[in-house]
Formats: sequence, C-alpha cells, structure tokens
Amino acid sequence: MRIGVDFGGTNIKAAIVNHAAVIRHVSVPTNAGAGPQAVLQALASAVAQLAAGNLPVGVAIPGEVNDAGVCFKLPNVPGFEQFPLRAELQSRLGCQVAIENDATAAALAERLFGWGERYRSFLLVTLGTGIGGGLVLDGNLRRGHGGFAGEIGHVLVDSSPTAWPCGCGRTGCMEAYAGTKGLLRHYASLAGNQSGQGKHSGDVRAIFESQDPHSQAMMGFLGQALGSGLASLNNALDLDALVFTGGVAGVFDRLEPHIRLALRQRSYSQPQGEVAMLASKLGEHAGVIGAAWLPQPGK
Ligand SMILES: [Zn+2]
Repeated sequence: MRIGVDFGGTNIKAAIVNHAAVIRHVSVPTNAGAGPQAVLQALASAVAQLAAGNLPVGVAIPGEVNDAGVCFKLPNVPGFEQFPLRAELQSRLGCQVAIENDATAAALAERLFGWGERYRSFLLVTLGTGIGGGLVLDGNLRRGHGGFAGEIGHVLVDSSPTAWPCGCGRTGCMEAYAGTKGLLRHYASLAGNQSGQGKHSGDVRAIFESQDPHSQAMMGFLGQALGSGLASLNNALDLDALVFTGGVAGVFDRLEPHIRLALRQRSYSQPQGEVAMLASKLGEHAGVIGAAWLPQPGK
C-alpha cells in the first residue's frame, strides 16, 4: 500500500491506495491564496489524518516539476514559482516524496490499471478549464526535458490574424477553443447574447447533457478544435490510443464522432488503422492512484 496525494487548486485529497483501490481518503481545502507554507501545512495535515504510518508518499501537482523536485509554477496557486517543493514536503512529512504533474500522474494510473493494459502508446487528454495531458510511449511514462511532456493545450490550431487569445499569452492554441473559456465564448455567440458568460466548467457539461438547442453545435466546435490539434500530435507520435478524461468525458460517446471527423481531415495516412479513442477507465481517483505509484526519488 502507498499514499497518494492529489494537490488541486481548490482541494487537496490524500488517500491510502492498494493497487487501483482507494482504501481511505480525506479531502481538505487548499486555501490557495494563503501562501505556500499554509498550503503545505494543509497537505501535511491531510496526510496525517490518514494515520497510515510509514508508507511511501507521492504527490500530483497542478503544474510542472523538474527532476530536482523544483516546481516551475502552479498557475492557480500563487507563491510556488521556482519553489523547492520536494525538499519542503520531505521536511514536513519526514519521508521521501515523489512529485509529478497531475495529468502525467493520471496517465501513469491509466498505464498501470486502465487502457495501458491493452495499448502501449497513448496520450491521456484532460478536458476541463484547461486542456492538458500525459504521455505514455512504448509502455513508458514520458516526463520530457523539464516535466512538460503531454502539455498539449498550447498546440496551434488557428494561425489566422483573428485567432482567439489563450491564457498563456499567445493566440490560436487548442485550449483557447476547447477549454471552458473558449467553449463558453462560442456558446455566447451561438445564443446571440452574453448568456454564456459567467458559467463554469460544470455548465459546459450541463449544456452537453441537456436538450440545449446549441448542444450539437457546441460538440461540433469542441470536436473540431480537439480533432485538429490531436491529429497534429498523432501525426508526430504514431499513438495506439487517445484516452479522454475530465469534465466532459462523461459525454464522450456523443463527442467522439465530432473529434473523429476533424481527426480524419488532418491525419497523415495510417496504414495500421485509425488511432483508438476511448474514455478513461479510471474515475475521480485517477490522480491519487497515479500519485501513489510514482517512482520514489532515487529509485
Ligand atoms: Zn496557449
């Protein structure tokens, strides 16, 4: 058994994990605005509440971390820029701590206990406020040079002068269209008013799941943005599968044909057959399960 921690921008979830089973878990507020020391105290208290003794600990974070355990930044948790996260956590928890990007950790969970049992090379695509991902190639989790492998949201899908702005400061990124903000912007234009403004991630899912008259057009728009970006990635990586998770993965069956349409338009010929597209086998606990099974530092 191991301890996995999913360090999110809103809540920190800690769990005792046995293979893919979550034995016990606790959740505490992140208090993202309270500064790094208060946030790390909250994380340590969540682990302490598990009363699990001396189990190995892994932490999935909403950002990137390099091999030295230094966090680049956490976009939704201020104060963690170039922060020595592993050293601070090891000091607080009194044990070795493995740290990884949350989408990459979820890809590890999928590799070990989900579709990775059938497919050796796949991209886990996380759909939500942002578009992220984790990459497994030939059975191995890929972190890349600085822990950024699989950060797919900023692949270019529109190079025109009118391309939409992205949170990263550039324009035309896949996330600018397929992320929550872009989807709601498109919804507002379809509805002919500003009714799309002010809605949250859950409301995008509500639009898809309801009889909303714009639901089909929204799926087409999301499918076009995702399919064109993912085609570029698949042309380069020659994957077995694309695995989807996150807010709108629950409506994946209806979304898949729209993604497939755009993917086909942009794909280089695939003599081995088309890439498989699937909803993740792991549910809400993928983050803690992946975190728990991260390789411990130095091993
Ligand atoms: Zn971007």
